[in-house]
Amino acid sequence: MLCGLAACSTDAGVTARRSEAGVDPTDSQPVPTQPTTPQTAPIDDPNRDGVGDVLFPELGNPGIDVTHYGVAIAYDPATDVIDGAVTIDLELTEDRDAITLDAQGPEVTEVVVNGTTTTFLMDDPELRIDLPDKGRSGDSLQVVVRYGLHPYPQPSAIGMNNGWYNSPGGSYVLNEPDGARTWLPCNDHPSDKAAYTFTITVPAGLTAVANGALGDHRTEGDHEVWVWEETQPMATYLIQVLTGDYEVVEGTGPHGLELLSVVLRSDLAAMQPALDTMSPQIEFFEQFFGPYPFDRYGIAMTDSFGGLAMETQGRSLFSRDDFGFGVQQMLLSHELAHQWFGDAVTPARWQDIWLNEAFATYGHMMWLEHIGEQTVGAAAAEALMFRSFGATGTPGAAEMFGYNSYEGGAVVLHALRLQIGDDAFFTLLQRWVAENNGASRTTQDFIALAEDVAGERLSAFFDEWLFAGRTPTQFPR
Ligand SMILES: [Zn+2]
Repeated sequence: MLCGLAACSTDAGVTARRSEAGVDPTDSQPVPTQPTTPQTAPIDDPNRDGVGDVLFPELGNPGIDVTHYGVAIAYDPATDVIDGAVTIDLELTEDRDAITLDAQGPEVTEVVVNGTTTTFLMDDPELRIDLPDKGRSGDSLQVVVRYGLHPYPQPSAIGMNNGWYNSPGGSYVLNEPDGARTWLPCNDHPSDKAAYTFTITVPAGLTAVANGALGDHRTEGDHEVWVWEETQPMATYLIQVLTGDYEVVEGTGPHGLELLSVVLRSDLAAMQPALDTMSPQIEFFEQFFGPYPFDRYGIAMTDSFGGLAMETQGRSLFSRDDFGFGVQQMLLSHELAHQWFGDAVTPARWQDIWLNEAFATYGHMMWLEHIGEQTVGAAAAEALMFRSFGATGTPGAAEMFGYNSYEGGAVVLHALRLQIGDDAFFTLLQRWVAENNGASRTTQDFIALAEDVAGERLSAFFDEWLFAGRTPTQFPR
């Protein structure tokens, strides 16, 4: 994501931050002042049923491993109402007679487990589901949750709203870190990645877009049904769902890579320069990060508030408002770099967010150097100078998308590069992705691989650069 960082020091970002503090000005619908479901309990409540995430104790759900989500949504931007059903294929990882899902907003009307309607309790932010038969570790379950809601962005502990946004021409979602559960009952934690099928029904004339390949598009009466398939493991925070007057733009990238972008029909000509950046940027990053990790790439240019840029898996999300004055090289390269760092290899805990943001920031620094702007060395030196107190490796929720994760994290990577040398550094980045694509990993996993690649103990280095609250003021020589 680039909303919380450098972009927030720009006018666009400041505007975005302001607009998120209250009612989104782009939302043409009245926003309820009270959630329609019960208020949430304090997040330190031990009954929140999370998976032990230090920053978000209520996220995730113990005892389950989701393998596939079948997300079926009917949505009309004019009424701004979702009629939804999600079919969740999961495996139990422990013996359970009940499970939970994360749901904060959806009004659940029915839950069916393995074909049997069962009892449930909406206990925001948890949906508690009784299993009709006691489940054993290793059992496969299919859980169908039917629900409805009038979606609206909800506050996150990061200090910004996230979730489902109504836009002038349709809608979009911004889920990082805990917005998916506000419109989709799910296991909303990056440690559990799954495949997805999205079946989205919209009024005739609108396009509905989600991650992956377009599997089917059909007309049913006065509606259109769009089916998208994401077969590669994806965290819930990387879901892309858009509705609006979009044109699907197909192309071919390096070594035959499929390109699939979506652009508002009225923006087709204006967004061509941005579309044209994809191939050279992919080619450039592949030299350093290894092969592009997914089956396809694209960009999605939505009519959101300005300052939004998000690495939704396989197709990064941007705001058309940021592209009125030319191609945004930093935004485009940053979100592309995330496809390797964050999307292919995902943090196992939110406190490991630097594994996403530091790497994407370092990536956009490399691209900017490549096109003749500031060198990486100069950018890193500047970032080192402005780095203040606080450890990159252990942010609080409010600091996750702050300086120490982005530029401060890029400083850590640049120091590591100087410490172990270019060959080992880029071998490390390539092995990190090649060996962990599809998985969720921790900072400790990265440190272990770094030591393996470098052939030296690096605990002192990481203690000093990543975990100390007061970090060095000089790069290693
Ligand atoms: Zn980012």
